[in-house]
Amino acid sequence: MICPFCRHDDSRVIDSRPVEDGTQIRRRRECPQCSQRFSTQEVALLNIIKRSGATEPFSREKVLVGVRKACQGRPVNEDDLVLLAQRVEEALRATGQAEIEAHEVGMAILAPLRELDEVAYLRYASVYRNFTSLEDFEGEIALLRALPSNAIDTSKSSTPSSASKKTESSAKS
Ligand SMILES: [Zn+2]
Repeated sequence: MICPFCRHDDSRVIDSRPVEDGTQIRRRRECPQCSQRFSTQEVALLNIIKRSGATEPFSREKVLVGVRKACQGRPVNEDDLVLLAQRVEEALRATGQAEIEAHEVGMAILAPLRELDEVAYLRYASVYRNFTSLEDFEGEIALLRALPSNAIDTSKSSTPSSASKKTESSAKS
């Protein structure tokens, strides 16, 4: 790593520590030329390709903002949302890709959101999947009735077909 002070083309790592639950590594470095110290941070890449073609780092906060809006007035607490955003990030990282299309982020949100709250899911899906008519809603609601939410849960190990006896309006306080 080039020294940001004198541009010397090497630097020495003098300390290394995990931050953010170990998902990042922060390193303290020292330049052997000018002895200045500086810090670097290493993080596994996960960039989102926006519709414009520009890329930006994945942000859990952006996922939170989107689902929080869909969950307004619903019996969903902040912890549920934080967990959902975490699951979305894990699902995206599990693809092993360093760059992911923005619409794939939306797709990754749908399944866990549906599991959390079906009304919030409908709101989110209506925007994200561009519902334009009552028929679009009716079709989606028919699907919700036909398929218990655990049947499309792709994140956990339970086999979908065996665990599908749950009826609609499941008991959520
Ligand atoms: Zn230097």
